[in-house]
Amino acid sequence: MLRGLCYTARHPWRMVFFMQALADEAARLFGIRLSPQQLTQMQRHADELAQWNRRVNLTAITDPQEVLVRHFLDSLSVAAFVPLRKGMRLVDVGTGAGFPGLPLHILCPGTHLTLLDATAKKLRFLDHLVDLLELTGVRTLHARAEQAGQMPAEREAHDLVLARSVARMPVLAEFMLPLARVGGQCVAMKGSSARQELKESARAIGLLGGRVNRVETLQLPGVAQTHHLVILDKVAATPCAWPRQPGIPARQPL
Ligand code: SAH
Repeated sequence: MLRGLCYTARHPWRMVFFMQALADEAARLFGIRLSPQQLTQMQRHADELAQWNRRVNLTAITDPQEVLVRHFLDSLSVAAFVPLRKGMRLVDVGTGAGFPGLPLHILCPGTHLTLLDATAKKLRFLDHLVDLLELTGVRTLHARAEQAGQMPAEREAHDLVLARSVARMPVLAEFMLPLARVGGQCVAMKGSSARQELKESARAIGLLGGRVNRVETLQLPGVAQTHHLVILDKVAATPCAWPRQPGIPARQPL
């Protein structure tokens, strides 16, 4: 049903097809009902990404079907397992072109979303998109996660910390957990190595004030690899030594 998908602005009927396919699959897979406005916003995100990606390297995923499944449906999968509520503070660590944070904010516009990335050109794209889509609850933050975790305004300030394709779990735990408030959660979107990575990060998670809540498994249409959501609870304050200086978590994982 996703075959022949394309969303260029020059082919309005194909745009309709993109939105219809996204609406159908989000409902079928996750029970998520997307309004026409939400679908239009996601469509524009996909469109702008395709256009900007010709000049700026934002994503390796360019095939429209893949964009729909691997960017939008994959991002939305988080909401199938972790309830989003109005007023919730979300941060997407290493957001790249806005995934998974932006589709989740579009789904639940009452959330306050911080899109964090170390690469300025990705944030320029996201600033443009936030203006274009007139999103009022979204801001971008140009910083390394290691720096953000030591900023008083960001540290332990978020209800839900998200990350996809940024680092292996022992490193990612040091990026994510300091940003979560005690009582909040982290969701790391992982591929088939999730459980192995989780084993390797057991010590780090404990030191940083986290506890494994559970691992959810999902299968996306046409994607051979099983995806996993590693869900951590923030149960105690992170000692102030963490996160360490930029680059150290990756060089010397906890
Ligand atoms: N989450 C997006 C992008 C993944 S690519 C997606 O799944 O599509 C990884 C992104 O993480 C890049 O944009 C990179 O700039 C960013 N990144 C890597 N290390 C980081 C760090 N320490 N702090 C902040 N951003 C980081």
